[in-house]
Amino acid sequence: PLGPRHITTTNGDFDSSYPAEVRQYLRTYGLTPPALESYETQAQRCLALLELKKTPIEKYQYLTHLRAANVHLFYRLLNDNIRDLTPIIYTPTVGEACLRWSEIFTQPEGMYLSFSDRGNLRRILDNWPHEVDITVITDGSRILGLGDLGVNGMGIPVGKLALYTACAGIRPDATLPITLDLGTSNEALRNDPLYLGSRRGKVTADEEREFLDELMAALTEKWPSIVIQFEDFKNPFPSLERYRDTYTMFNDDIQGTGAVILGGFITAVKASGVPAKDHRAVFLGAGSAGVGVAKQLVEYFIKEGLTEDEARRKFWFVDSRGLVTNDRGDKLQDHKVYFSRDDNEGQQFQSLSRLIDHVKPTILMGLSTIGGAFTPEIIQKMAELNKHPIIFPLSNPSSKSECTFETAVEHTNGTVLFASGSPFPTVEHAGKTLTPGQGNNMYVFPGIGLGAILSKAVNVTQDMIYASGEALSDALNEQERADGWLYPDIRRIREVSVVVTRNVIRSAQGAEVDRELSLRQLSDEDLDEFIRQRMYDPFNEKSAIETELKRLTSPANG
Ligand code: NAP
Ligand code: MN
Repeated sequence: PLGPRHITTTNGDFDSSYPAEVRQYLRTYGLTPPALESYETQAQRCLALLELKKTPIEKYQYLTHLRAANVHLFYRLLNDNIRDLTPIIYTPTVGEACLRWSEIFTQPEGMYLSFSDRGNLRRILDNWPHEVDITVITDGSRILGLGDLGVNGMGIPVGKLALYTACAGIRPDATLPITLDLGTSNEALRNDPLYLGSRRGKVTADEEREFLDELMAALTEKWPSIVIQFEDFKNPFPSLERYRDTYTMFNDDIQGTGAVILGGFITAVKASGVPAKDHRAVFLGAGSAGVGVAKQLVEYFIKEGLTEDEARRKFWFVDSRGLVTNDRGDKLQDHKVYFSRDDNEGQQFQSLSRLIDHVKPTILMGLSTIGGAFTPEIIQKMAELNKHPIIFPLSNPSSKSECTFETAVEHTNGTVLFASGSPFPTVEHAGKTLTPGQGNNMYVFPGIGLGAILSKAVNVTQDMIYASGEALSDALNEQERADGWLYPDIRRIREVSVVVTRNVIRSAQGAEVDRELSLRQLSDEDLDEFIRQRMYDPFNEKSAIETELKRLTSPANG
């Protein structure tokens, strides 16, 4: 027996927009101030309060409290201001919140599961008071670029699931943030009197695997069609390999990132006017992100008719030691071998500039963490070689971006097809306002999640991930295409998520991993309509409650 439950994640009862009858029915009459308010009035108060908060972390705290007090109002506000509020509830502010979690913690918003709980995980899950469709799990061991933050990483699953709700309409009470307390290698945290996790060092890889095995089984036993998303694990590959074929799981750091870059890339390749078979890509940075992204693009080239070998050989990787080649004389890390080259004619290509002269790439990608590595000289070379050079400086945060949008526009005379990892402002060029693309995972993961939920997929297959990225290219509207955008306007995210969700469902059906067979016979239009119907709309919650109330109080029910 654990005492009374304090459920803080779904309280929408105290809403000043509910009329008296609803308040009576909910037994909140007298607990909510007398005025009956419109959403506009509510939003006016919330935005003014937000304005009063001076620092991002105070704004973050205000929004956290708003969600706890009135979940529907929180999501109305978020949906209506997605572009301005995402940086507060997610990156970059969530990073600061995680760094200071021990100080700012006021209420539980998800589940904390400790290594010492092993053997009991299934029973502990019974303490969660709602039916769950999707969970995001972290062990806090690599929170954004901030290192091991232990259980302070809880901000990440909480924030990410808020985006699932805002972007794809997954019901807030069907989301479960989970943070695993598997110890932390962060000694400063372990010595912090306010730290909220156990004070042991990180468990071993074997212990972690055993724990995760139990957790995956427990989650799926309790909620048989639950979707499980892994996030911000220091070494994300073992769990992905182990569970992707046995559970409905995916890893957004690896798969979502690959898909979202793929989406912008497909649009850029089409806009470049160069046939797929004639592209050549130079990647600065051969870490897990660079190689992961390139593997997704290999799939694109294969779908465009190339053999795997032809596709693979379209990539030249540069790491801190120069071009990645077979004859470089060092032992290559495993993940680099696939793209390692043997056609460098004995040259070593230490400099990016010389390599570009040699390869004459159509595409330049940056995942090197080296800010400014794409110098004006390099960008000019790309512009001389190509009518529309594709340049994606993807390193985060902005200070590490290989170039800014402004530099890219200036030194290509506005011809660049550009997407970055971090946001950049628009640029005025030759009388036009140019808008940079941002390869933000929130374009895809909400639709991957909703597609897997609605189709009741048994796995999240690689094809479903690919389909999510491909869908992004289809989701651009005419205006966005005409303006040369590589990604849709983020303010249209719910519409975009419908397209992503539909493609993910179709892909699940194609692979026959769907368990909701009734969706198979729906036309695309009907499927879109079905998806929209199933999406939680915070603006409709009031009418939902009123409808319920009318039903309960109608004479037919006595
Ligand atoms: P990582 O493992 O540290 O890889 C960095 C790579 O860059 C390594 O291959 C490294 O070479 C290479 N490098 C370092 N200094 C270099 C130099 N001076 N010249 C050439 N290459 C150099 O990092 P990661 O996890 O792959 O992530 C890389 C970046 O991608 C990060 O900034 C991250 O924020 C970004 N990223 C963006 C997105 C997105 O846009 N949505 C998603 C994921 C990651 P060695 O191998 O020789 O050490
Ligand atoms: Mn992440």
